[in-house]
Amino acid sequence: MRAYNFSAGPATLPEEVLKEAQAELVDYQGTGMSMMEMSHRGKEYSAVHDETIANIKELLNIPEGYSVLFMTGGASSQFAFIPLNLLGKDETADYTNSGAWAIKAIKEGQLLGNVNVAADCGKEIPTRVPSIDEMNLTDGAAYLHITSNETISGAQWKEFPEHDCLIADMSSDILSRPLDVSKFGLIYAGAQKNLGPAGITLVIIKDELAEKCPDTVPTIMRYKTHIDQNSLYNTVPTFPVYMLCLVTRWLKAKGGLEAMQKQNADKAAKLYDAIDGTDFYTATAVKENRSDMNVTFRIANNDLEAEFIAEAAKQNLSGLKGHRSVGGIRASIYNAFPVEGVDALISFMAAFEAKYS
Ligand SMILES: *Cc1c(COP(=O)(O)O)cnc(C)c1O
Repeated sequence: MRAYNFSAGPATLPEEVLKEAQAELVDYQGTGMSMMEMSHRGKEYSAVHDETIANIKELLNIPEGYSVLFMTGGASSQFAFIPLNLLGKDETADYTNSGAWAIKAIKEGQLLGNVNVAADCGKEIPTRVPSIDEMNLTDGAAYLHITSNETISGAQWKEFPEHDCLIADMSSDILSRPLDVSKFGLIYAGAQKNLGPAGITLVIIKDELAEKCPDTVPTIMRYKTHIDQNSLYNTVPTFPVYMLCLVTRWLKAKGGLEAMQKQNADKAAKLYDAIDGTDFYTATAVKENRSDMNVTFRIANNDLEAEFIAEAAKQNLSGLKGHRSVGGIRASIYNAFPVEGVDALISFMAAFEAKYS
């Protein structure tokens, strides 16, 4: 039996996708080889590589002048890649601090150049993201960095600020909703939350930005290298890209990102309604910024949380423990998380409350 897996990442994948991968794992389409065993420059893999890029461009309606890259090192390596490539010596980069992931990005920026923290609500409880009005922006900043969804705190940007070069860490909400990519200079996401298995980092970059990189940056660390080589400068993680290909096909078959956004909003609204419907549970994020992906909440009596998580696990509701840095309960309900699992959690919450209140 498949678990209802609420893990924040690596996270649940569509069962259909896993079964498809299983069916062709040992012998990919009559080649006598697994996709894992094939050259990253061969015919079969190349078709998968190109289709994945095309599917992402189609799903997000990406305009001309942008490249879709598959990189490695996770979203965490992008914290360094971005200032290394895009923050000039005499420039300042603006960052918003909305929580644990934003802070990590800020720290890497500070190692490499001048950073202005344009707004800071990283430690506030209830959790939130900055409002567009409260940002204290630098004139002529190299870029403005935001974290579109704080996976740990459960706070999400619903509207994005306008900026000449807006950069977003979308690790935990990429492909969960339609997006106007033309408003961004660069978007990045580790794959293991909403895209596929761990191992690749998706980067969507406006090509002209890549020209800015100083000559001293090593070849493999330049966006330009990966754009020019179509992400094949070195051996790309072929199997994770193949899995991402299957996920993008699944998304298209499900009706694309508008359909996904609706389904995600419905799932999240149900769960927040259940939390708001009683004093026994409290949502962690302010209403306007509540994440549709990571629903974070507390039990008023915090001492019951460990019991909640343990009893839920016995009922096939797995991975509900909040991040170790903040505690509480977190239900991650990405694209692939089934609505039946949300219903099962809501029933469990009511039963748990009846038992302990
Ligand atoms: C998980 C996560 C990261 C880190 O991703 P890695 O791929 O492990 O480096 C960064 N930012 C956000 C918002 C995340 O959710």
